[in-house]
Amino acid sequence: MFPFFSICMNPIDRLDPLLILPVPAFQTNYLWLLCRNQHAVVVDPGDAQPIEAALQKHALDLSAIVLTHHHQDHIGGVADLIRNRTGLPVYGPRNEVIAHVTHPLGQGDRIKLQEIDLELNVIDVPGHTLGHIAYFGYADGQPVLFCGDTLFSGGCGRLLGGTAKQLLSSLTKIAALPDATRVYCAHEYTLSNLEFALTVDPDNSHLQSRMADVLALRKAGQATVPSTLTIEKQTNPFLRADYPNLQASAERIKPGSGQNVLDTFTTLRSMKDNF
Ligand code: ZN
Ligand code: FE
Repeated sequence: MFPFFSICMNPIDRLDPLLILPVPAFQTNYLWLLCRNQHAVVVDPGDAQPIEAALQKHALDLSAIVLTHHHQDHIGGVADLIRNRTGLPVYGPRNEVIAHVTHPLGQGDRIKLQEIDLELNVIDVPGHTLGHIAYFGYADGQPVLFCGDTLFSGGCGRLLGGTAKQLLSSLTKIAALPDATRVYCAHEYTLSNLEFALTVDPDNSHLQSRMADVLALRKAGQATVPSTLTIEKQTNPFLRADYPNLQASAERIKPGSGQNVLDTFTTLRSMKDNF
């Protein structure tokens, strides 16, 4: 006869909710730590030190590294993190050269992060860099997106490898995900993004009230991310290049460019570069 408690020891019964913690690094980066029970996965560890500190503080075992693109502020901690962790899987974009990636990924691939009970689908999102990928999945039923420097809260990444056309098409793909999707981007840029957004979409009441919320959060020293796709569609000018207000703003800055979505998007992106 088995003792009663053995029935209660089924590991499925003991799954804690998935926690997604922002680990700040450098001036503006968030390294995302996904934790469940004693396991953790890190997204875009630009620096190993704050991750090691967080793992130690919460008594977590690192079970995988997930990368969105090759920039140093997203991969700089990989070599140190894998040093004493033999066999640690490192997921990353197939179309970028990144040392230590063990599982090169592209559109349509799916990863199973067994230790934290999370599956993520890979989406190609070129634009910020040419091989940039994003990861979408359901964390305990909640849709979540890890999109690196592609979609930001209130903005988008600069063109540092791809074209405006590619970035627009990547953002359009992201916008087709469920509205409730939580957007875990890699930088705290919301305030300056919204300052720019208000110059090109000043009459947007969603944007005005979001600015008030974000100012309050920053004043209290809190993160403004994750946001949601609902919020982004209401306020992010780079998801709104098909709106007459944004097209009129593009037309004012660069006559002729407010006639279509791509030209509007391109003008907005270059305006933001010089903002
Ligand atoms: Zn980047
Ligand atoms: Fe970055």
